[in-house]
Amino acid sequence: MKAHDGMYIDGAWRPAAGSDTIAVVNPADEQVIAEVPAGGAEDVDAAVRAARAALPAWAATAPAERAERIAALRDVLVARKDEIAETVTAELGAPLPFSQAVHAGVPILVAGSYAELAASYAFEEKVGNSTVYAEPVGVVGAITPWNYPLHQIVAKVAPALAAGCTVVLKPAEDTPLTAQLFAEAVHEAGVPAGVFNLVTGLGPVAGQALAEHDGVDLVSFTGSTAVGRRIGATAGGAVKRVALELGGKSANVILPSADLAKAVGVGVANVMGNSGQTCSAWTRMLVHTSQYDEAVALAAEAAAKYGDRIGPLVNAKQHARVRGYIEKGVAEGARLVAGGPEAPREQGYFVSPTVFADVTPEMTVAQEEIFGPVVSLIRYEDEDDALRIANGTVYGLAGAVWAGDEAEAVAFARRMDTGQVDINGGRFNPLAPFGGYKQSGVGRELGSHGLAEYLQTKSLQF
Ligand code: NAD
Repeated sequence: MKAHDGMYIDGAWRPAAGSDTIAVVNPADEQVIAEVPAGGAEDVDAAVRAARAALPAWAATAPAERAERIAALRDVLVARKDEIAETVTAELGAPLPFSQAVHAGVPILVAGSYAELAASYAFEEKVGNSTVYAEPVGVVGAITPWNYPLHQIVAKVAPALAAGCTVVLKPAEDTPLTAQLFAEAVHEAGVPAGVFNLVTGLGPVAGQALAEHDGVDLVSFTGSTAVGRRIGATAGGAVKRVALELGGKSANVILPSADLAKAVGVGVANVMGNSGQTCSAWTRMLVHTSQYDEAVALAAEAAAKYGDRIGPLVNAKQHARVRGYIEKGVAEGARLVAGGPEAPREQGYFVSPTVFADVTPEMTVAQEEIFGPVVSLIRYEDEDDALRIANGTVYGLAGAVWAGDEAEAVAFARRMDTGQVDINGGRFNPLAPFGGYKQSGVGRELGSHGLAEYLQTKSLQF
């Protein structure tokens, strides 16, 4: 695969300060497909300086003009959609149709939404005898994971640019090629030099240097709770803004009045998509005890049908981790009704679509984020029991409720401690705020709530 051997800083590709590199591996066949530079503190510093130098002019650019640049960026992403999908498939392993529809399609929607929001947002409003201005927070350090390589980048960079912030991005080490392609797109879209900068590198080196840099005003991080907690502590110590999108263990609550076959089928597909590497995946399926056996049979059948359509996990570490969780589920007494810990292929980091029955709420597979194609079916006795189980983890990112009557589902969803709930399947809305209750994070992404994360307010009294 084509790769740049430098960092995109101040509008150009520049050599890295050091000579370390990261090998990019295709997880479907374990072959090295490219190498990118592994940046360090010096590269991060150069990028932050460029972002700081570009800040005053970009912050002063009229919102309508910023909107035009974001619209141009969206157009480049549309024009290069196939290339984006092929790149994500090569470094993440996702099947090509999924990469086209989701990994390329969703960021285009999100970029488009911010082109519109930048043009329409009320950056200035009258409140009594005051005028309140929404001003950019400043230089943003964006640290992103590999699971939705382009979406995670666009969900941070597009609102940051709309707000008038400048950005330094440190993407995940597993998926740097998508990030390089994005930097090319930003350049093609005519975004001024220094407004967006890219430093590829390792998390504990380049990522940490970015999170700790004095010249960064806001750190926006998506990834594991362990790293998020550290970044939050560092930001707190420096009194700088922080946004954290962390893990999840979302509940898919199927109430007795629901269309069971549909709820189970969509529920299983929701977990298997992207090989289970989705922070908002509905990994716990909660079923009334009277329908439990039927739901287990339906889920096993749906998982078996998924079969070969599932891609690999991103790397050897995740492969071992996810299979370890499946072994732990078996050891703790859960019953495997589909899949299992054995690797289904000799080559590539594949895991079979896996369904666990007889899962109790305190089991590890019901409490911890597995980040693989594993769904756990938990039985409940009544609605209060279902609510207690649904809310009984440290996480609160997403969820689903199914019922024959929409009002019944809404009433249940309002009692869930979670940031986003899909009612009877829902439909993706790029304008809906996304983010966590409890340990799933701090702050919101997408839509106007996502834009507000990159703004600070000033009021003038008359
Ligand atoms: P991670 O948190 O280590 O990596 C996410 C990003 O943070 C990457 O860009 C990484 O380079 C960077 N990073 C790592 N250490 C850092 C540090 N000390 N300082 C600053 N940045 C640092 O996640 P992972 O190891 O790739 O995945 C492990 C688990 O995290 C997964 O199994 C899953 O449970 C969870 N995860 C969640 C999401 C999500 O969308 N919420 C995404 C990916 C992974």
